[in-house]
Amino acid sequence: MTKREEQADRASDAAALAEAGAVLTIDLGAIRANYRLLKGKLGGARCAAVVKADAYGLGADRVAPALAEEGCDTFFVAHLGEGIALRKILGAVPEIFVLNGLPPGSEEFCVAAGLVPVINSEAQLAAWRTEAVRSGKTLPAAVQVDSGMARLGMPPEEVERVAADPHAFDGIDLKLVMSHFARADEPREASNAEQRAAFEALARKLPAAARSLDNSPGVFLDVENHFDLARPGCALYGSNPVPGKSNPMRPVVKLEAKVIQTREIAAGAGIGYGHAAKAVDPMRLATISLGYADGWHRRAASFAFFAGKRLPFVGRVSMDSIILDISALPPGSLAPGTLVELIGPHQSVDEVAAQAGTIGYEVLTSLRHRFHRVYMDG
Ligand SMILES: *Cc1c(COP(=O)(O)O)cnc(C)c1O
Repeated sequence: MTKREEQADRASDAAALAEAGAVLTIDLGAIRANYRLLKGKLGGARCAAVVKADAYGLGADRVAPALAEEGCDTFFVAHLGEGIALRKILGAVPEIFVLNGLPPGSEEFCVAAGLVPVINSEAQLAAWRTEAVRSGKTLPAAVQVDSGMARLGMPPEEVERVAADPHAFDGIDLKLVMSHFARADEPREASNAEQRAAFEALARKLPAAARSLDNSPGVFLDVENHFDLARPGCALYGSNPVPGKSNPMRPVVKLEAKVIQTREIAAGAGIGYGHAAKAVDPMRLATISLGYADGWHRRAASFAFFAGKRLPFVGRVSMDSIILDISALPPGSLAPGTLVELIGPHQSVDEVAAQAGTIGYEVLTSLRHRFHRVYMDG
């Protein structure tokens, strides 16, 4: 970047910050540190990165290149479209796997973008063979087997049939055999060992290839699960991969919303839609620029924080705003434009999720593109 471009960049950043209702800060340095921590637990197995759903909502265009700089050369997305976008971001070298496989008719686009489909059925394998003949190329593929989750992948009887067909992999370079844990976040569950055994038995029937079973919580299970390649997602983004234990990952996300207006109300005043809250005593309120249209679930955590003080939500969450009780702060605090914390040191993604009866993954992927985003690195 030239000096002038840098100045223009800073000026447009400042303008975007001034215009924004809320600010989402994403710490790429923390994502890098989380990648190194996960990789260090794998005893030599390779560590891929799952960047589906725009890197869990945090911006694959910034997250994936940072991970590539940490030495990550293998990425997983869910949709073909995500893979095509990621190929443009990362260039020709990294391997990009598409978890949801090949929608019928999409084969040539998968070839054109140099993506590796995760083949989930005999029919997809046949379509990929046909595409290999049509394109005159040997095409890379992963095969997912269903080791006991009943979501995606070839069931055992399909694996048997494919294994018995000497031409099943004609024109196909099998790069990876994989499966997925249903209950890796419950380390004492017997089904984890059962899935591992089922996976090994199924993988043995297929042509020799690298093997992969771990998601984030899987990385913290027994070392025998690691095989050749792990596929963590949420732990990279700071979610706790070992529920019930203290979180070994570095927090990645901070969400702050701007105060739009403050007011004092008298005892008896009704507050917000449906007058769902009423002031018992005189109160001081602040309205912030964040609501359910920004991805803040109406039942998610109902506190904001400022200067270490907890500020309860009062009344209902609106589409674009939330009313806070700021009676605990000295009068005159929280001038319009002041930022209050919704996610950060005082309230983690997982805590916000727990109060909404959901998981950190859903909170992260709900934080849509309405915020001004700030990326920190280093
Ligand atoms: C989403 C996904 C992952 C990553 O899971 P996390 O729990 O976020 O680590 C790994 N493998 C598959 C097949 C997935 O769908």
